[in-house]
Amino acid sequence: MAAPTSGSGRVLIVGATGFIGRFITEASIAEGRPTYILVRPRSSSSSKANTAETLEKKGAIVIHGLMNDRSLMEAILKEHEIEIVISAAGGADILDQLTLVEAIKSVGTVKRFLPSEFGHDVDRAEPVEPGLTMYKEKRKVRRLIEEHDLPYTYICCNSIASWPYYDNRHPAEVLPPLDQFQIYGDGNVKAYFIAGTDIGKFTMMTADDDRTLNKSVHFRPPRNKYNMNELAALWETKLGCTLPRVIITEDDLLSAAAENCIPQSIVASFTHDIFIKGCQVNFSVDGPNEVEVCSLYPEEPFRTVDECFTEFAAKLGKKVNPKGEVAAQNPVMESIAIAATCS
Ligand code: NDP
Repeated sequence: MAAPTSGSGRVLIVGATGFIGRFITEASIAEGRPTYILVRPRSSSSSKANTAETLEKKGAIVIHGLMNDRSLMEAILKEHEIEIVISAAGGADILDQLTLVEAIKSVGTVKRFLPSEFGHDVDRAEPVEPGLTMYKEKRKVRRLIEEHDLPYTYICCNSIASWPYYDNRHPAEVLPPLDQFQIYGDGNVKAYFIAGTDIGKFTMMTADDDRTLNKSVHFRPPRNKYNMNELAALWETKLGCTLPRVIITEDDLLSAAAENCIPQSIVASFTHDIFIKGCQVNFSVDGPNEVEVCSLYPEEPFRTVDECFTEFAAKLGKKVNPKGEVAAQNPVMESIAIAATCS
């Protein structure tokens, strides 16, 4: 394979104040790229405004606007000579990208577009509703990109490295369980868990790599492949004690999905797809338009799930030894109020 091209293209990131977008923006800034971020004029919360301010202080150039404002998007792309556009729009706004795609097409100078994907291969996976509706929207964006013959990369980064709560779309913002584990099915179905910082870093590495042009990039670092039982055992080494396990059956997940409470039911449908149906591991990455990220950057390490869990333990004040296990101490769990809230 040819060596990657250098990363200096001017980047516009939509959704930089969001959960995934922030990781991507920080990685882009860290790479020293000219990084523009599109921020909605009336940000929905002051914490989002603070995030934009923090990113600006780190070097991002803030532009206010909506990606579904076509004339504005065309003006921004032209004026700032944007070469790479990355969207990390949230699940509720996926179709806003259709206007952005039209703007990119009409300007004609963007060298790569990465739409808001950052999960599974939406052409391949078939979750139950309401997750399926989100995939149908993501597929619609893909088809428009391809119809317009735009240069693209689809990032299929699998799960975020954290405890995969079935009712929380940003589980990395919550500590793993402290009272009991909810294990999906028999707990033996594997999935890939990627640190948010690595989602950002490797997304930026692919963004102007010739080898990822018009391809889906799958994140499958072998050391980050765990099932629920292994994840629970790993967290117990960090806690220094064992926790009870409760089985969440396939029917439980399907019932939670059928409640159609958004976004929790969407997460339940993806949880079913991942941990019951095995949607992350039931295929091989060998199609002509897909590539596995470790084969592209074999020298570039991924943060391990072990490291991420050590970091969670540190937030609890646990002292973890060099082997990543909790140092001997009182095994009785303190009572700490942690809620898996839906944001
Ligand atoms: P968030 O809801 O956290 O953030 C969405 C961002 O998009 C916000 O900054 C929002 O702005 C911005 N935005 C939305 N609509 C517009 C618009 N019309 N114009 C400009 N900006 C807009 O999204 P997530 O990070 O949760 O999701 C991003 C992607 O990542 C999705 O495709 C999702 O499916 C995927 N994902 C993957 C996960 C995984 O574990 N693999 C976990 C979570 C998400 P504002 O700040 O104003 O709201």
